[in-house]
Amino acid sequence: MSLLHTSNAARGQVWRDIFAAEAPEIEFTELTDAPDLGSVRYLAAWEPSTELIARLPALEVVFSVSAGVDQFDMATLPDHVRVVRMIEPGIAAGMVEYVSMAVLALHRDLIDYGVAQRAARWAPLKLVPAEARRIGVMGLGNLGQAVLRSLAAFGFPLSGWSRSPHSIAGVECHAGEAGLPGFLASTDILICLLPLTEDTRGILDRRTLSQLPRGASLVNVGRGGHLVDHDLLSLLDDGHLGGAVLDVTDPEPLPPDHRFWSHPRILLTPHIASTTSAESGARALIANIRRHVAGAPMDGEVARDRGY
Ligand code: NDP
Repeated sequence: MSLLHTSNAARGQVWRDIFAAEAPEIEFTELTDAPDLGSVRYLAAWEPSTELIARLPALEVVFSVSAGVDQFDMATLPDHVRVVRMIEPGIAAGMVEYVSMAVLALHRDLIDYGVAQRAARWAPLKLVPAEARRIGVMGLGNLGQAVLRSLAAFGFPLSGWSRSPHSIAGVECHAGEAGLPGFLASTDILICLLPLTEDTRGILDRRTLSQLPRGASLVNVGRGGHLVDHDLLSLLDDGHLGGAVLDVTDPEPLPPDHRFWSHPRILLTPHIASTTSAESGARALIANIRRHVAGAPMDGEVARDRGY
């Protein structure tokens, strides 16, 4: 039984050692080993090519090396191949840090103070207490819920929005199209932690963002494809939105002449909110392969027709 790994070499070296020490029953291979592709049952990859998939006749499961699976071209995967996203504690820990930083920066007016600093203007703003700053998270999955748990400590009123109804202590939960207007109207800082699918592409557009209260702000840590760039820019320019923290863009890297780089009310980072920990990622993968061998449900299996 073999696993083929095709993402970055540094991760591959860590994974090779952990598989050898902790899962000797699974043969860990990379293309540089010139493996017998006919015996590969599992593939761990970022963007596997159609040509590679066609050379893996025994393939049963494709594991994403990250939390998202939008980079896979599902149409080119044979119907029987199962797709699993990465769920491991390092991804959630990084996301909790990043979103906490972004929310606190927006809550404590760091965008305004950055503008004032560049103008050498000493201009204190009225302090808004956390209890008066409503946080709304789009996507109540593994990461959305982890972020909400950490933000609860500050005392922000919390709400969330998902496809199906959820019940989470301390969080006002909304669901589906019908739940979206009420969710948006009661959100001062909107955090996007949705997967990118046919249903969610372009969801952060003028129609949705203009339903946020005047002065609200956005944290996009989902995917760049969720956001309609020129709608965000015009809502920032006309003052409807107060600021945005963007970790993801479309395309990536963002072209040097894009207005996001220089906009005074945008804080931009190069898709670094969180990343898969090599060590706990390897162990999550081993646990899932063992579940698959035992005929048990795998953690993070994606409904291919739904796209997440
Ligand atoms: P999950 O699959 O665990 O959760 C997805 C959530 O989104 C679910 O609550 C789901 O609803 C909701 N959702 C999906 N489609 C819709 C829809 N059409 N309408 C409303 N809600 C919807 O994903 P994760 O929490 O693990 O990850 C979320 C995303 O975060 C990833 O897909 C990736 O794009 C992004 N990410 C970004 C990183 C970065 O560094 N910037 C790092 C890691 C992830 P329901 O619960 O009803 O199914």
